[in-house]
Amino acid sequence: MVLIGPPGAGKGTQAKGLARVYGVPHLSTGDMFRENIRRGTAVGRQAQAAMKRGDLVSDEIVVAMVGERLAEPDCAGGFVLDGFPRTVAQAEALAGLLRRAGGAEPVAVEIQVDSSLLLRRLTGRRMCKVDGEIYNIYDRPPKTPGRCDRDGGELVQRDDDREEVIRERLAEYEKHTLPLLEYYRRQGQLEEVDGSGEAAAVTRALVDAIERKEYRGRHL
Ligand code: AMP
Repeated sequence: MVLIGPPGAGKGTQAKGLARVYGVPHLSTGDMFRENIRRGTAVGRQAQAAMKRGDLVSDEIVVAMVGERLAEPDCAGGFVLDGFPRTVAQAEALAGLLRRAGGAEPVAVEIQVDSSLLLRRLTGRRMCKVDGEIYNIYDRPPKTPGRCDRDGGELVQRDDDREEVIRERLAEYEKHTLPLLEYYRRQGQLEEVDGSGEAAAVTRALVDAIERKEYRGRHL
C-alpha cells in the first residue's frame, strides 16, 4: 500500500493504523531519514540539508534506502509505504523493485485534506521522541502536556513543522507529487479517501478503499 497526500494529511498516523490492521510493517521514508540523521550516518548527512529547507531528497538516495528496506524479510508479506513514492521517478523505481520481487502492483491511496486544515495539523503536531506516536496540541492533545500517553516520552516539534518550511514542503508537494497522483490515476491504481475526519474514521475509509481495490483486482 502506498499512501499519498500533502504534508499534514495524516499519512503517518494512518500508515501506523493500517500497519496494525494488516499486520505488516510501516515504512516511512521521513522517519528513516530522521533516524539516519540522529545516528549521523552517510544517508543522514546527504538528506539533512534538503530536509531542513523542506525540499525533497534526491530520488537516487531515497530509492536506494527503500530498496534495501524492502529486501528485508519482514516486508515479504506486504507493507505500508508512507511518504514514498513522492515523484513519478520514485513510482517507476518502486514498480521495478516490486516486479523483480515477483510481487503485485501497489494499491495507491490519496488522502485528501483541505489546505486550511493542513496548516493547523502541521503547526499543532508533536511527536514522541521514543516511539514516534503523533499528537496534535489542538485536536489530539496528550493526557499530560508534553508527554506521550503510551510511554511518557518527551513530545517534540519537528524542525520542518515551522511555518516557512511548511510553505516550501507544500510547494514541493504540488510540483512533484501531484504529477505522481496523475501517474497512478492513469494506470487505474489510485483510490481517493477523505482525510478530514477523525483518525479512526479515516482508517476505516482507507481499509474500505483497499478492500474495494483488491476485490476489483480479483474479479475483473
Ligand atoms: P515526511 O516525514 O514524510 O514529511 O518527510 C520529511 C522530509 O523527508 C521531506 O520533507 C523530504 O525532505 C524528506 N523525504 C521523505 N520522503 C521522501 C521521498 N520519498 N523523496 C524525497 N524526499 C523525502
